[in-house]
Amino acid sequence: MLVSINPADNKEIARYEEHSEHEVKNILVDSKTAFNSWKNTTFTERSELMRNAAAALKKNLEEHAKLITLEMGKPIKQSRAEVEKCAFVCEYYANSAEGFLANLNVHSDAENSFVSFQPLGTILAVMPWNFPFWQVFRFAAPALMAGNAGVLKHASNVTGCALAIEGVFRDAGFESMLFRTLKLPGSKVSSVIEHPAIQAVTLTGSGAAGKSVAQCAGRMLKKSVLELGGSDPYIILEDANLDDAVNACVTSRLINGGQSCIAAKRFIVIESIKEEFERRFVELMSQKAMGDPMDEKYDIGPQARTELRDELHEQVSESISRGATCISGGEVPEIDGAYYPPTVLTNVTKGMPAYDDELFGPVAAIISAKDEEEAIVIANDSDFGLGAAVFTQDIKRGEEIAANRLEAGCCFVNDFVKSDPRLPFGGIKQSGYGRELSHFGIQEFVNIKTVYRK
Ligand code: NAP
Repeated sequence: MLVSINPADNKEIARYEEHSEHEVKNILVDSKTAFNSWKNTTFTERSELMRNAAAALKKNLEEHAKLITLEMGKPIKQSRAEVEKCAFVCEYYANSAEGFLANLNVHSDAENSFVSFQPLGTILAVMPWNFPFWQVFRFAAPALMAGNAGVLKHASNVTGCALAIEGVFRDAGFESMLFRTLKLPGSKVSSVIEHPAIQAVTLTGSGAAGKSVAQCAGRMLKKSVLELGGSDPYIILEDANLDDAVNACVTSRLINGGQSCIAAKRFIVIESIKEEFERRFVELMSQKAMGDPMDEKYDIGPQARTELRDELHEQVSESISRGATCISGGEVPEIDGAYYPPTVLTNVTKGMPAYDDELFGPVAAIISAKDEEEAIVIANDSDFGLGAAVFTQDIKRGEEIAANRLEAGCCFVNDFVKSDPRLPFGGIKQSGYGRELSHFGIQEFVNIKTVYRK
């Protein structure tokens, strides 16, 4: 049984019967049949349906946004923005998929040689709860536009969102078996990957889930893409515009209650400006109001689940016991719901969870560095490599550090890291492999086929 619980009050919202083994097999077989007709449709036909999906998202924006907030607790304004972004990615691929997948002429010894991009079949998407609509649409829009079918295994606490997304595609006019939700726990994912109808798998989630999926996909010789965790470092150099830097850092640390893979997590500040940075940072963090995520006036809702909130608090306590100083927040409030306040830890050093691990919640770790070189070493001293940012008024210096020195998939200068359908998104090291979004994303799940005529 999959259970949705409202993290704002810990009350049950709904229970969903899992799909049986037999039902899963039927869905996968039907998905293959749907793929066999879909792969022959034109880009014009696919684009029309994908634009309908964007329209369906916008038409029911409020309803979808409320469901997101109810199931995982993000502030309602952020849920609305998430649904709008989903409509944008649908429109983006409706407009650009044909160009991204057009034949590519290549000069060779042949009379004519070119690369053609063909769909693979049914792709399994294993998705997390933190952006329950966005994570799915950023996979589904390119995958379907490329001519593939999709099956979604969503996080068990957002089954309502999973079913609503299935409904969006159905209402848009897609054949009902082309995009399906499987109601299954994570422990049953391997048996889906093993099914012959599945050609590839993409997972967004934790490293542990990523390893399990990659192992199974490897054993079955099926392609996989992994978008995993991050501990994004933000370097604040001595010549940064501090107001802008603090604003970007706090926004990034608190968005989605701090539960974003690309949230800023480690703030590496040059010693000479550390005191002033800390003062302004704590001031802004403490101004952010935490409360009922359905109420427009709050910036932070609860964490998505109580046990995740408790794990976060353990990481904070462990960091403090190893020498970090808590200068704001750090206490579990005595109210119903999975709330955790904006928290700032300073004097963070290697060997503490706040330095070594991912803190998936509104907790900032401030680390000091004596100069730029040391800051870069600290930034790269991580198992993760998803996003990173550097703040400096010397634009050339910033771009040089972002392009050549930081070990991460998405490096920003003077802004916080964000995903944009027009730019590739993904990580290196323990943050995963493969890319989503842009033309790189749509080319992950296609057969890049060489055609050679003598
Ligand atoms: P999670 O526990 O790994 O869950 C993610 C998905 O994987 C869920 O659908 C889950 O199903 C499933 N799953 C769990 N264990 C599995 C296993 N052994 N085999 C197959 N599937 C399994 O992660 P989460 O707590 O939901 O999300 C937080 C993590 O995701 C963070 O580390 C965050 O950084 C990362 N994330 C990364 C990105 C990115 O783009 N790089 C974006 C968002 C989040 P159940 O719910 O049924 O367990």
